[in-house]
Amino acid sequence: MYDNFDRRINYLRISVTDRCNLRCVYCMPEDGVKMLQHSEVLSFEEITEITRVAVSLGVNKVRITGGEPLVRKGIVNLVEMVAAIPGIDDLSMTTNGILLAKYATQLKEAGLNRVNVSLDTLDGAKYKLLTRGGELIEVLMGIQAAKEVGFKPLKINCVVRDSSEERDAKLVAEYCKQNGLEVRFIHQMNLTEGHFSVVEGGSGGDCSNCNRLRLTANGKLMPCLFSELEYDVRLLGAEKAIRMALDNKPACGSMNLTGEFYNIGG
Ligand code: SAM
Ligand code: SF4
Repeated sequence: MYDNFDRRINYLRISVTDRCNLRCVYCMPEDGVKMLQHSEVLSFEEITEITRVAVSLGVNKVRITGGEPLVRKGIVNLVEMVAAIPGIDDLSMTTNGILLAKYATQLKEAGLNRVNVSLDTLDGAKYKLLTRGGELIEVLMGIQAAKEVGFKPLKINCVVRDSSEERDAKLVAEYCKQNGLEVRFIHQMNLTEGHFSVVEGGSGGDCSNCNRLRLTANGKLMPCLFSELEYDVRLLGAEKAIRMALDNKPACGSMNLTGEFYNIGG
């Protein structure tokens, strides 16, 4: 499917939960986060059906994200359901990696093709501060497990404050080189100001080549991360919501002050 600016839209990013087992300083407030009610969150059947419709309209790349997708109960079953949809060439997941050692084998067996793991520093104390309590060793074990089960290419998302030349980023790059991992540097976005920027080594933030639609955990199709436009799948039905998101996809993102990457899926 093509939008009004002749961009081919073939990539659906699905946030399967707004919950997370970490509280990264740039993503979520420490507490007081208003979480979605259980009934607001799309069921596995709903997510699978929307994905099936999106695939019938031309999507062939799907990414499962969150919040933290691995904290959603039954996530392996959801991966299996989505993987069973004919026509998906690339099924991936973005995770913080904390639970990856536990799930890597099951995810592979369920049909997941690839994972991106978020890792901003190799300093355990800094990691704990940045994520407000995360254990770096668990992520490193998760990455190792993902490698062993054969997720390839295995990519690392590294959020940088200023540039990929800063010390933590350089050490992450070196670690990736030694371990055969690909690294993508994401410039930290200030969610309260709504600024956005290009991902080094990835395609995010490059509006003229944007190929994606996003589905939030509570069933809103968003044509652009940096616009407040959203189309409710439960109200409109999957096909109409997808078509409206497509027809209204802005030429370029501007602002989104909702500041909810953990619902929209980053
Ligand atoms: N919990 C999973 C994770 O951390 O990988 C998936 C969801 S998270 C919202 C997706 C990506 O968004 C992560 O790589 C994270 O580092 C990035 N992210 C979150 N807040 C950000 C911000 N303010 N600026 C840039 N990237 C951000
Ligand atoms: Fe959780 Fe990912 Fe946001 Fe960190 S970036 S708080 S791991 S959703």
